[in-house]
Amino acid sequence: MPEEMQTDTAEVETFAFQAEIAQLMSLIINTFYSNKEIFLRELISNSSDALDKIRYESLTDPSKLDSGKELYIKIIPNKSEGTLTIIDTGVGMTKADLVNNLGTIAKSGTKAFMEALQAGADISMIGQFGVGFYSCYLVADRVTVTSKHNDDEQYMWESSAGGSFTVRPDHGEPLGRGTKIVLHIKEDLTEYLEDHKIKEIVKKHSQFIGYPIKLVVEKEREKELSDDEAEEEKEDEKLIEDVGEDLEEDKKEGGKKKKTIKEKYTEDEELNKTKPIWTRNADDITQEEYGDFYKSLTNDWEDHLAVKHFSVEGQLEFRALLFVPRRAPFDLFENKKRKNNIKLYVRRVFIMDNCEDLIPEYLNFIKGVVDSEDLPLNISREMLQQNKILKVIRKNLVKKCLELFEELAEDKENYKKYYEQFSKNLKLGIHEDSQNRTKLADLLRYHTSASGDEACSLKEYVSRMKENQKHIYYITGENRDQVANSSFVERVKKRGYEVVYMTEPIDEYVVQQMREYDGKTLVSVTKEGLELPEDEEEMKKREEDKVKFEGLCKVMKNILDNKVEKVVVSNRLVESPCCIVTAQYGWSANMERIMKAQALRDTSTMGYMAAKKHLEINPDHSIVETLRQKAEADKNDKAVKDLVILLYETALLSSGFTLDEPQVHASRIYRMIKLGLGIDEDEPIQVEEASAGDVPPLEGDADEASRMEEVD
Ligand code: ADP
Repeated sequence: MPEEMQTDTAEVETFAFQAEIAQLMSLIINTFYSNKEIFLRELISNSSDALDKIRYESLTDPSKLDSGKELYIKIIPNKSEGTLTIIDTGVGMTKADLVNNLGTIAKSGTKAFMEALQAGADISMIGQFGVGFYSCYLVADRVTVTSKHNDDEQYMWESSAGGSFTVRPDHGEPLGRGTKIVLHIKEDLTEYLEDHKIKEIVKKHSQFIGYPIKLVVEKEREKELSDDEAEEEKEDEKLIEDVGEDLEEDKKEGGKKKKTIKEKYTEDEELNKTKPIWTRNADDITQEEYGDFYKSLTNDWEDHLAVKHFSVEGQLEFRALLFVPRRAPFDLFENKKRKNNIKLYVRRVFIMDNCEDLIPEYLNFIKGVVDSEDLPLNISREMLQQNKILKVIRKNLVKKCLELFEELAEDKENYKKYYEQFSKNLKLGIHEDSQNRTKLADLLRYHTSASGDEACSLKEYVSRMKENQKHIYYITGENRDQVANSSFVERVKKRGYEVVYMTEPIDEYVVQQMREYDGKTLVSVTKEGLELPEDEEEMKKREEDKVKFEGLCKVMKNILDNKVEKVVVSNRLVESPCCIVTAQYGWSANMERIMKAQALRDTSTMGYMAAKKHLEINPDHSIVETLRQKAEADKNDKAVKDLVILLYETALLSSGFTLDEPQVHASRIYRMIKLGLGIDEDEPIQVEEASAGDVPPLEGDADEASRMEEVD
């Protein structure tokens, strides 16, 4: 190799691949994958990105293109060498880029992709995980990457896998600017050097790339030789035959002998001449074409779930093509810049991807292109932030996205797929986008106490509301089973009202922002002030209960002290003796759980923000009634005190809170078990008690067993 011969070996540096990348490479090399062809899509896609970058840089600094004005991708198969070369005139890589980007810097996608592979994912998903380059080892056993960036000399990266790569200055043919990747194709995969195969792959995966992809094809033509040349040719005949050229003698008219020669030459054939799809009339585009375009835009291996193709005319003009993918990406909510979301074009010229100002955060899963007629070509990211045209485009995009979701919602099955993947985004939207809150709320789906297995919309809930029902009742919690069996839901359900089950952490934020739907307030069944519509008789009974249990409430509040804000008579309980509700604007039990689970939470905020608890007692429950009698007989009855604490702790648990000192609660329970079994306190203890802590002793052996019975 001339390059290597010219290179002083002292200039060669060897690097170890980052551990996970090395692992990924050996997986790629040693596993059998059927669709190896996707390597070409990945390399072309990288080239296209690199071309995007230099084009973008040149918008504000045209001199960046002094190193080469033409932007293209070239593919050169070479059967005799067994190599496939891909050249682009993109931004190129500096030496540091080669070292960092192609092997030493860890990427979150590497591990995620290997896990996905193990879980049955397809190799073609590689591009989604940001490690597409390494797919070249599907077909090559040795790869060299020569690159020239405007800010550095030309360097060559090389690796035959095996855990390491080298980087050296390259003194070979100057690239001007850009990157040349040479794949030494594995012996049994020479099909990838065939023109027809390459054409087929490019057509399938890369036809919508926005730069010309040129295939260098070898052709033959006949060349007529003059007599002099023919003489020379004759002498060289042997030599020519050696290089595979045929010499023919032709009888020409007039008896004069003319010699022709079959001459080989190369020609660039452009493989992607399609007009940008978004500029075409939507009626003329098939779903398959949209699918192909979507896949080439996003590197997704599956078709999109839904698409919206539209143009806006009038004071401002643009065309856009928006896609909803089938799946959320593995890093949807990671706070980093995402790639290939919405690409911005100005009059067919690509300007940039990831234009953050084009679409709000909660719609960051939407992919597509926007092509504006009005923006200046040399616009920079900084200028975009202030740009009025862009603000109007953004507003329109959001509107169209919501329309698209509404259309999706008409097909239940499809909407379910969509909702499983992106419900969090809609909920985030409720939080972020107050202007569209109502529309977004229409798109939400929840299970309810009446919805059965299918989730339903709030609109459906409202349509089922009872005549006297003013509010929408909901409960937040960890999962459907837990909330469905909660004591809070029982009374509301028993009265014939429906309860919405909200079981995702983000729902807590949703209800904070939403407050109402269709003029109906959202009311939590776990918070104070839950008023169920009641008739006169019920009202009268509640007033009586209030008076009757006033004394017990006071006693209980005294015992529980600052553990609860207050103790009140409940109208929401049926089977349970009591429950803990939280202040209307404080945290719910579920929110407290979520906050406790977040590491690094400062404990002082925790104390301040923690749910303000109210204990509600069920006046119709035998435990509560018996307690009332005991407390009335003797306000200072020690057993009452102990039972109240036990009741409180049990209510905490069943209301979805956690206990600060579970072992203390456990010892209380053990004591009650012993009582139930009639075990004497003085006998040696058989059950191992956890720290007895602050358990107050129970008194009066004799009637304890009977007390248990009463309580039962
Ligand atoms: P991704 O392209 O998703 O970031 P890859 O593994 O395919 O992941 O590529 C890693 C990085 O290498 C790219 O982000 C880019 O910086 C650099 N790179 C790859 N190919 C080229 C190229 N043809 N021109 C310039 N840079 C490239």
